[in-house]
Amino acid sequence: MPDNTADFDIARVRADFPILSRRVGKNPLVYLDNGASAQKPLAVIEALDRYYRHQHANIHRGVHTLSEEATAAYEQARARVAKFIGAGDPRECVFTKGTTESINLVAASWGTANLHAGDEILLTEMEHHANIVPWQQAAERTGAKIRVVPVAPDGTLRLDVFRQLLSPQTKLVAVTHASNVLGTVNPVSEIAALAHSVGALVLADGAQSTAHFPVDMQTLGADFFVFSSHKVCGPTGMGVLWARTDTLNAMPPYQCGGDMIRVVDFAGTTFRDAPERFEAGTPNIADTLAFGEALEYVARLRPAAHAHEDALLRYATARLAAIPKLRIIGTAPEKVSVLSFLIDGVHPLDIGTLLDADGIAVRTGHHCAMPLMKALGIAGTVRASLVFYNTFDEIDRLGDSLERIRKMF
Ligand code: PMP
Repeated sequence: MPDNTADFDIARVRADFPILSRRVGKNPLVYLDNGASAQKPLAVIEALDRYYRHQHANIHRGVHTLSEEATAAYEQARARVAKFIGAGDPRECVFTKGTTESINLVAASWGTANLHAGDEILLTEMEHHANIVPWQQAAERTGAKIRVVPVAPDGTLRLDVFRQLLSPQTKLVAVTHASNVLGTVNPVSEIAALAHSVGALVLADGAQSTAHFPVDMQTLGADFFVFSSHKVCGPTGMGVLWARTDTLNAMPPYQCGGDMIRVVDFAGTTFRDAPERFEAGTPNIADTLAFGEALEYVARLRPAAHAHEDALLRYATARLAAIPKLRIIGTAPEKVSVLSFLIDGVHPLDIGTLLDADGIAVRTGHHCAMPLMKALGIAGTVRASLVFYNTFDEIDRLGDSLERIRKMF
């Protein structure tokens, strides 16, 4: 299969990612663990270097040139995030450590202020632990209850059951936009319309969607949207919480300290509006700037990159499905390029280890989705997750290795 199309030059794209040319043992690296974390283009690596060489100073509080420049660059990154997700205003975008911290922020701040005994939080069986455990903790604190929407055998969400579980008790629906195990893309707009009809808010976990297709806060319908920089080719330890300004400003602070206050007095303290209200202390300035570069980089490659990725997913699905005894877990019609699978009689960990010996990086295990594994009646899967810089040749290498591994057992 050709990787190049008229407007997508895969060799040039791959040249932007220095790590893709390294070897693992004696084999060229085949990196198929993008769902866990994507690799970084030169634009990101150079932004980090440039910041520490030429721009570093603390932001917001300085009157000197460096501090003003760093502040402007930090706020420019916020504007880039807003553009990337179609936010109405950059001030709707709060910088966090990542998806996990963003969800913890909402559960601790909004959850504690708004959940009461008897209220219900609706989750789905396909949630990542990061979108389960903070809600369990919030439920314990407030007396709210957790209800769970099941997943059909092909990996689609049971919207029929979702409709039945929705009630005036439902205060929040927290749903993944795309599943990190099944690849399923959930119909967030439809879910949000239904949730809003009973007065519930919706949190969409965009950790796996933002890297794969454009998202738009004007049409998604969610009240909270969270994602991580490192899955969209940006640095680790960075992420975003998006919500409308009035939602954010009605929420109590999550962490307190410098920069998030208006006036501090031992008689009482007043707080700034969002986003500063939720960004206490000196933030991760360098990674924020590099995150902004990553989003610009990814956005520049669209939509050709997505067309390539879709073709790769179709090719990889057919290639793996043709391997005897291999079963793909997650075959929903709407999918991102995540391929979970099992081979009868071979433990996922053995498959992962043997693939690594061939230079192929995949992930094995429960993928931080133990309740989903329980629902599917399996202990774990092997997961190959693709992005735009993967090639048809890499899929062939995966397929060939899996054929060989299957015959070993
Ligand atoms: N939700 C989903 C769907 C994920 O795939 C992940 C990362 N595997 C997370 C949440 C957590 O993201 P992070 O570790 O970047 O906070």
